[in-house]
Amino acid sequence: MSNDKLRFGLKCATILFPFALQLLSQRLLALAHRWTYRTVPSPKEIVVIGGSFTGLQVAQRLTETIPTGYRVTMIERKSHFNYLFNFPRYSVLAGHEEYAFIPYDMLENAAPKGSFRRIRDIVTSIKDGRVYLESGEAIEFSYLVIATGSRQGLPSKGIATEKKDGCRELQTVQENIQTANRIAVVGGGAVGVELATDIKYFHPDKDVTIVHSRERLLQRFGPRLHDHVAGKMREMGIHVRLGERPEIVTEENVLLFPSGKRQEYDLIIPCAGQTPNSAIVQDLAAGIISPSTKEIRVQPTLQIIADSKEDTAALSNIFAIGDVAETGSPKMGRAGFFQAEIVIQNILAMIQGREVSSVYQSRPDIEGSIKLSLGKDDAVMYMEEEDGNDFLIPIKAGNEDLEIKNAWSRLGGRFPGTT
Ligand SMILES: Cc1cc2nc3c(=O)[nH]c(=O)nc-3n(C[C@H](O)[C@H](O)[C@H](O)COP(=O)(O)OP(=O)(O)OC[C@H]3O[C@@H](n4cnc5c(N)ncnc54)[C@H](O)[C@@H]3O)c2cc1C
Repeated sequence: MSNDKLRFGLKCATILFPFALQLLSQRLLALAHRWTYRTVPSPKEIVVIGGSFTGLQVAQRLTETIPTGYRVTMIERKSHFNYLFNFPRYSVLAGHEEYAFIPYDMLENAAPKGSFRRIRDIVTSIKDGRVYLESGEAIEFSYLVIATGSRQGLPSKGIATEKKDGCRELQTVQENIQTANRIAVVGGGAVGVELATDIKYFHPDKDVTIVHSRERLLQRFGPRLHDHVAGKMREMGIHVRLGERPEIVTEENVLLFPSGKRQEYDLIIPCAGQTPNSAIVQDLAAGIISPSTKEIRVQPTLQIIADSKEDTAALSNIFAIGDVAETGSPKMGRAGFFQAEIVIQNILAMIQGREVSSVYQSRPDIEGSIKLSLGKDDAVMYMEEEDGNDFLIPIKAGNEDLEIKNAWSRLGGRFPGTT
């Protein structure tokens, strides 16, 4: 066994053991809660905006913990949970895209009766203790959790809100890739790397280039990951161009490099840059949206911050978590997962009249660790500790569907496919 594997195994054991105990205790308490929670007419609302990785987690855990008299209302514009982790793969591989859209009814079915409802709508603004919806409805809340994440085009995230349109979006990318010979992927973060290697794996005859503005691919991680990934890409025959930030001339399918050189491709796929969905708080009070990141500013308790102390105090029942919140943590699903628990503890404390005392401290080693696919047959696990020590574990033998079946079962749904 390699040194990295052994060290990584020990590290995982120290993380997973307390985590498993915590999950077990949560499950037992949830069972007890199911017996004590009672439906009441006109419950007080805990509204969660956004039903992706973070919003769904916080909504689900709230339904297991809130006292009688409260209800969780999750407002999400999409018809299905979008399993984003597989979007790059399903942008290349045809015939699997429907599995990336998982029905939401599992939470409705699993929650204690009366503790949860999902509203399919778009929140347009928040004012005077109410959220306003595109449909015209307004919902008064006792507590509000904003988990509206960020937006980005495919292959990272789609814009469709219906499953069939989402499938169509992915199929269009597949068809574009299928018909192109010279393809440029712009952006060498995780999505760009997964996409470029998948294109080359599933279409080995295509000429694939990845262009990245930094000197290292995946620069958020340690240099060893870059070395491993760049080596693998070159082995696959992918051209890797680093330290270049070309302008994309979309109409002409041209990359215009700062040197003045124009490079034409059949297809250019941008894979960089995401925009936080924070605009819904802009009229709440001054200074909630960070001018530099456009994310929602939060305290360590994950309550939102405004410019003035008075506004901050008046908005103390509003929390922001996940990719939309300026927490300094890696923009990863795992970070939202840990933040959800902090918010739940603080909401329960407020309901019980206790002081809000749970604070979020990012754990970049756990939250920022990554498993990257490098084509169907290869993947790499990478984790970096705060002192700079890192673990890099190459993994062989992959699965076309990237274990999507497990995602369905984690979300309580029955997988409709066969893998
Ligand atoms: C391709 C890809 C692969 C990834 N792989 C990993 C991985 O392997 N591991 C990992 O930990 N992380 C991974 N990530 C990162 C992870 O997906 C994000 O950190 C995570 O999605 C953040 O979740 P979120 O709920 O905060 O925001 P989002 O996922 O952005 O979700 C926000 C939700 O809010 C909804 N919404 C927004 N505004 C409104 C509104 N006004 N009204 C109603 N609904 C609204 C949106 O429809 C959306 O469903 C990956 C990301 C991508 C793009």
